[in-house]
Amino acid sequence: MTGHLNLVVLGKQGAGKGTQSQRLCDLHGLAHISTGDILRAAVQAGTALGREVKSVLDSGGLVSDELVNQLVKDRFEKPDAVKGAVLDGFPRNTFQAQALEQFLGSDGIKLCISIDLANELVMQRLSSRRVCQECGTTYKDTDVAAISGTCEVCGGDVVQRSDDKPEAIQKRLETFERDTLPLLSFYESRGLLVKVNGDQSVAKVAADIDGLLHGRGLA
Ligand code: AMP
Repeated sequence: MTGHLNLVVLGKQGAGKGTQSQRLCDLHGLAHISTGDILRAAVQAGTALGREVKSVLDSGGLVSDELVNQLVKDRFEKPDAVKGAVLDGFPRNTFQAQALEQFLGSDGIKLCISIDLANELVMQRLSSRRVCQECGTTYKDTDVAAISGTCEVCGGDVVQRSDDKPEAIQKRLETFERDTLPLLSFYESRGLLVKVNGDQSVAKVAADIDGLLHGRGLA
């Protein structure tokens, strides 16, 4: 399995993890493994897994480590992960990071990219985010579609997500600090941690990440 480019992207909600992860996958032909996306899709499809996790997702809590560990393990078996994967939203705590290290073995994680963003900026970004209930297109609160409440793509209702309201954002930030921040030391102690300033344009964050990968001989 040596030669796989497995990357972990860490960051608070709104830091740009999803955008940067998807770009890295497109650029390097890697699988985008987002546990949040997998779980939300299961809820949407009403599968047994979806029925099991729906209430946890609705409450903003975390799904059990065993369940997500198994999901990620299965996801690595899919053909699109043959060259490696970008992990987005997993691991979320050190138990998950240890499980990942165990099942990837010597191939392991090549780099952990932390996209840093101050809490005040997360608040600003998420509280100004609006989303179409029908098709999921996102807008800023100052966009015409957000002001009129009508999606420009499908005509659906444009609303604020319940977990993008200040109290819910605060709760997610606290969970991040308690469970996910320790992962920075986990990867730092293995010499795998790099940090990027998330308070920049998407293009600049992307360029910084590319520079770091290049510097490590990974791209
Ligand atoms: P996200 O889109 O990454 O914020 O994930 C949405 C929701 O899915 C989270 O609030 C959790 O309930 C669940 N989830 C996603 N990834 C994990 C994980 N690694 N461990 C536990 N729960 C997770």
